[in-house]
Amino acid sequence: MAYQSFNPATGKLLKSFAELTDAELETKLATAAKCFETWKLKSYAERAVVVAKAAVLLHKKVDEFAHIMTLEMGKRISEARGEVEFSANILAYYAKNAERFLAPVKLHPSLGEGHMESGPIGLVFCVEPWNFPYYQLARVAGPHLMAGNVVVVKHAGIVPQCAIAFEKLWIEAGAPAGLYTNLLASHDQSDAIVDDPRIKGVALTGSVAAGRSIAARAGKNLKPSSMELGGSDAFIVLEDADMEHTIKWAVWGRMYNTGQTCCAAKRFVVVEKLADKFLEKFQAALAALKPGDPLDEKTTLGPLSSEQALLDLLKQVEGAISHGAKVVMGGKRIARPGSYMAPTILTDIKPENPAFREEFFGPVALFFRVKDEDAAIALANDSDFGLGGSVFTKSVARGKRVASRVDTGMMFINSISWSDAELPFGGIKDSGYGRELGDMGIQQFVNKKLVRYVAAEAPL
Ligand code: NAP
Repeated sequence: MAYQSFNPATGKLLKSFAELTDAELETKLATAAKCFETWKLKSYAERAVVVAKAAVLLHKKVDEFAHIMTLEMGKRISEARGEVEFSANILAYYAKNAERFLAPVKLHPSLGEGHMESGPIGLVFCVEPWNFPYYQLARVAGPHLMAGNVVVVKHAGIVPQCAIAFEKLWIEAGAPAGLYTNLLASHDQSDAIVDDPRIKGVALTGSVAAGRSIAARAGKNLKPSSMELGGSDAFIVLEDADMEHTIKWAVWGRMYNTGQTCCAAKRFVVVEKLADKFLEKFQAALAALKPGDPLDEKTTLGPLSSEQALLDLLKQVEGAISHGAKVVMGGKRIARPGSYMAPTILTDIKPENPAFREEFFGPVALFFRVKDEDAAIALANDSDFGLGGSVFTKSVARGKRVASRVDTGMMFINSISWSDAELPFGGIKDSGYGRELGDMGIQQFVNKKLVRYVAAEAPL
């Protein structure tokens, strides 16, 4: 059974869902295609009525939506509420700004006049991960629906209740049938969906393996795609960093969402002068986290999203150790019911160790000691990933200089302010291509059409 909802804090099965049949899939795609024929003709103001209503409803239902998420994938309840609010803000942002972002742009050709207009292209297929069960959906639904497209979504197998709740939100917001469609689809059906001629664009957020598979399929079909994949962001600490401030961000950067964030701080790269002090304080701060029920406000360490996620992470840590890494703390599951991993710090990870190049998706920090700023940048760039990264220094000018030299899609100075509705999000290298959010996010799946008018006779 591919779509199953387990509570990772207890290991109990909450609910199972049957996968779509091919006949059901066909009906849903046909309904979405029919919806596009009228939705594409609506004005921005008309589209905004539905998208803004979904935002208002989501704000009203914060507790209900957050509760489903916490039960289904273990996010601590305060973080879950924050995610629901943020998702609502993203929808409201696109309802308000889409028309401005997609306004025709006047061109200045040598002859005559011209402009570029941005029109909808059709059905966009979105494949999304469980780690931010609503935010990821809002990131695609807000922009693409306001652009006049319709979306069909395959959410992760472990969060079907979140997927269904989000689809219901659109129905309640007055969306026409087929505007937002949740598909409990298998991987094979996902391939067939990408192949379907009614699908005109494909957006995936997830692992590199999933990205390679779906991007290849989209490429074979000559369909535009955007890929938001994994990361192994460097957290660079320079010798003039404010230690207390930096430690707080190190803990947040690694432990937010129990470490299961694409642009979490994963590699801690600290210059020699501060390395021992940083490690000591970082370890003490991680050791103070208290595992518990993620529904309890006092809990500071939640479970991983699933038992499988925990087993995979433990295996990865064992692999790192067997190739020479040393364990400063943790490295084991926590002896209690549920899928809890002890906060872990690994050191002595040499470039030959597979862990050097891997993404650790959970509360496992890789610690590196480097000589100076140049060595920190070189290490940060010695990665197949290129999603985000951060640098801590008292000098913002120095921070900007370092940020410019790190090969990633996003860099943060003296914080990890990882996502805002207004700011484009995405990476380079194995972290994917394309951007979501901000002005760029709505430009991904629109037809940039040139319209030119020249009063001239045809040349003989
Ligand atoms: P995943 O296994 O790749 O799953 C993500 C989504 O892709 C799920 O809906 C999954 O469905 C689907 N999927 C996987 N393989 C597929 C295939 N061959 N065909 C069709 N669909 C497929 O990723 P995950 O481990 O759940 O999520 C964590 C990863 O996502 C991390 O690497 C993280 O860094 C990345 N991520 C990136 C961003 C970003 O914006 N860059 C944001 C969040 C997460 P099933 O669940 O049914 O397998």
